[in-house]
Amino acid sequence: MLKLYNTLTNSKDEFQPLEDNLVRLYTCGPTVYDYAHIGNFRTFVFQDFLRRYLKYRGYRLLHVMNITDVDDRIIQLSREQGVSLKEFTTRYTEAFLEDSRTLSITPPDIMPRATDHIAEMVNLIKRLEAKGVTYRKDGSIYFSISRFPAYGRLSKTDFSGIQAGARVDTDKYDKDNARDFVLWKARKEGEDFWETEIGAGRPGWHIECSAMSMKYLGETFDIHCGGVDLVFPHHENEIAQSEAATGKPFVRFWLHPEFLIVDGEKMSKSLGNFFTLRDLLAKKYSPQAIRYLLLSVHYRKQLNFTTDGLHQADASIRRLEDFVTRMKEKADDSNASPAFAVEVEKARTDFREALDDDLNISAALAAVFEFVRSTYQKSDQNALSGGDARAAMEYIREVDSVIGVMKGEPEIVDEEIAKRIQDRQAARARRDFAEADRIRDWLMSCGIQLEDTREGVRWKRIRP
Ligand SMILES: [Zn+2]
Repeated sequence: MLKLYNTLTNSKDEFQPLEDNLVRLYTCGPTVYDYAHIGNFRTFVFQDFLRRYLKYRGYRLLHVMNITDVDDRIIQLSREQGVSLKEFTTRYTEAFLEDSRTLSITPPDIMPRATDHIAEMVNLIKRLEAKGVTYRKDGSIYFSISRFPAYGRLSKTDFSGIQAGARVDTDKYDKDNARDFVLWKARKEGEDFWETEIGAGRPGWHIECSAMSMKYLGETFDIHCGGVDLVFPHHENEIAQSEAATGKPFVRFWLHPEFLIVDGEKMSKSLGNFFTLRDLLAKKYSPQAIRYLLLSVHYRKQLNFTTDGLHQADASIRRLEDFVTRMKEKADDSNASPAFAVEVEKARTDFREALDDDLNISAALAAVFEFVRSTYQKSDQNALSGGDARAAMEYIREVDSVIGVMKGEPEIVDEEIAKRIQDRQAARARRDFAEADRIRDWLMSCGIQLEDTREGVRWKRIRP
């Protein structure tokens, strides 16, 4: 039985999807105004690990991750650089997808961009207006938190004493500054805006995740993930907007990976300990070691990211890879001996039981390395048959399908690329540019870069 720690209930709850074995998962994606840093990637690698484990457990998955391509910082930075919003955000979206690919992060099934879903956000705001939980002020629309009694349930905060009508326009603020938050921001001079039924302006950050998650996953879905810094206000606001509109529970399980610190300190540019993935690759650390380190500490514990940790991660991966090489040399197609088959089955059970316990990665890895150690010992004593070696190798490969740190993952084949490009051309022909963009993003996340030329579409593989 799989148990996950649910921020909403503050307990490890048994997980079952709402509908047979299909897990509907939403993860808050990047705000594309810069290269993502390793703290961001701790969250994204965790989410990939979660989805790999769910698949390993036999679930089917529908995974949506948004791309936030309009917000205060994006508008400010694109203006400073004198480029359009689209040009600016495309640059960092592609960088993000490339980095994700480098870290072996499986692409989500759907990656909706906020700017392609303005209509859905406007509709949701209209529904909220009809429910009487909003008010307008100077062309902007605010959510009145006093009209939603459950406000604070996720972050375990009592907001009942809050002064009604005090407002906040910024998207990020802390609990002490909780106010009515903005759903729709009135048009400002020199800023990008959309002309809509609810006025000219642009959406607040929080509304986009409610609108896009419910569009693709339904009004109630299984799991919502995001870094622990999103619990308040972002996720609290998502719940308020969604549940006030639908009257239904929005999300069943909320999962929040903890922060990452570097050498025991909070990562910050002023301390000089702020790293993007690209910074670390430039220092010649391997993406596999970075991924392993990000993954190897339980997600609800703070992770201390150190050079030492990277070296240890490297050594752990090498131990697994060497083991597979040794077993491969020895393996034949005979059956494993009954006694050894029992040992493999025990290692498999230990791995699974540890991960079933709220994804206890430390215990799971301990079981794996104990198996490696004892199998080496047998091999050294000439007590390992060719069939045993094959079974041992298969077990480690199975483990790696969940942790994803060994080299040699299958690549997307040319026929599939051609088919996706055809689908994209068809989408463009019917002027469905959002769909065309989605297909391009998906290919990018598989390491395929498209180039539109006069002679047609060209593609190339980009190496991590
Ligand atoms: Zn979000």
